[in-house]
Amino acid sequence: MTDFISREAAHTSGLYHKREIAIVHGKDALVWDVDGREYIDCVGGQGSANLGHGNVAVAEAIGAQARILATCTELFYNDRRAEAYEALARHLPAELDRVFLCNSGTEAVEGAIKLAFLATKRRGVVATMRGFHGKTLGALSATWGQEYRELFGPLLEGFSHVPFNRTEALDAAISTDTAAFILELVQGEGGVRPASLEFVREAERICRARGAMLIVDEVQTGFCRTGTMFAIERYAVVPDLLCLAKSIAGGVPMGAIAFSRAVGELPKRAHSSTFGGNPLACASAVAAIGEMERLGLARNAAERGAQLLEGLSGIRSPKVREVRGLGLLVGMELKENAGGTIRALQTEGVLALGAGPTVLRYLPPLVITQAQIARVIEATARSLA
Ligand SMILES: *Cc1c(COP(=O)(O)O)cnc(C)c1O
Repeated sequence: MTDFISREAAHTSGLYHKREIAIVHGKDALVWDVDGREYIDCVGGQGSANLGHGNVAVAEAIGAQARILATCTELFYNDRRAEAYEALARHLPAELDRVFLCNSGTEAVEGAIKLAFLATKRRGVVATMRGFHGKTLGALSATWGQEYRELFGPLLEGFSHVPFNRTEALDAAISTDTAAFILELVQGEGGVRPASLEFVREAERICRARGAMLIVDEVQTGFCRTGTMFAIERYAVVPDLLCLAKSIAGGVPMGAIAFSRAVGELPKRAHSSTFGGNPLACASAVAAIGEMERLGLARNAAERGAQLLEGLSGIRSPKVREVRGLGLLVGMELKENAGGTIRALQTEGVLALGAGPTVLRYLPPLVITQAQIARVIEATARSLA
């Protein structure tokens, strides 16, 4: 029976807003539905498919490791885990030389907040308006979206939000009671909004002056998305804690917190994860990072991102307010709800995402080709017409 939609609908949680197609196969930046219809995938696993679908090196690494050893908790040392740390270290600033491995983005944020509490013996956290950091209760306290928060309040005490890119608001918000300031360098979910260089510099300066930890959440911007392995390179900022997940392991669930010596010695067992650092995810991460290097994904993201930004900016439509982005994290803000255009794009064979009610978000695999980007631009122009 190939009616996967009704079979899934019979049991699904009901928490997701689903589109009426069943995706069953993918290769690079393309995916196919159960009826064999082809789409250019600008959803890209919501940021977890930077490497593209069906990467052979990753598939082989997972298969081989599954036969050798799939589980090995951090009670022991492990060969693949050592290699995964080294693969990350090749690209991280030398200061961020310790890493905690977990399984998702929200878990990386959750852990980073706990480590900041331990490091500072403080409890205040400052986040940004429109910021997104995940939906477990601690991370949700840092997330801005009222639609996610209001059903669960009161959330953690001591969390506050400053307007994004309003440099002058930082001085009053970050105090000597602040454990951490957390931000995304490009707000993804919040509408594809790059941080200004000045905002990031001032945040770093004030955090250092007041003894607060600076947490950069690169769950979406990491792993070549913005044209460098990590967006912190573009901003020349070294946070105390860096949150990673999504594309870290070529599509296999994994998260990480990289942190500096400023965090200090950590009490044993103050935080842990059974699956964190498992050999299967580590093998996948080693292969994925190797493929990012071999394929020059950072460079392709920069070049194809520039092509997409320029092409979308060239579309003359009274519906468009602004096109913005960094690398292949590109958003088109409309003067109306983006839902209709997203549906029209799907009919054109392009899967795109929203980012808030009025922003169309393009998050394709970074292996996307010049010809495919051209097709995305043409499909967008037709969808807006
Ligand atoms: C997706 C995302 C998260 C949450 O990651 P999950 O793996 O869905 O828990 C956190 N922060 C940012 C910036 C994200 O884009």
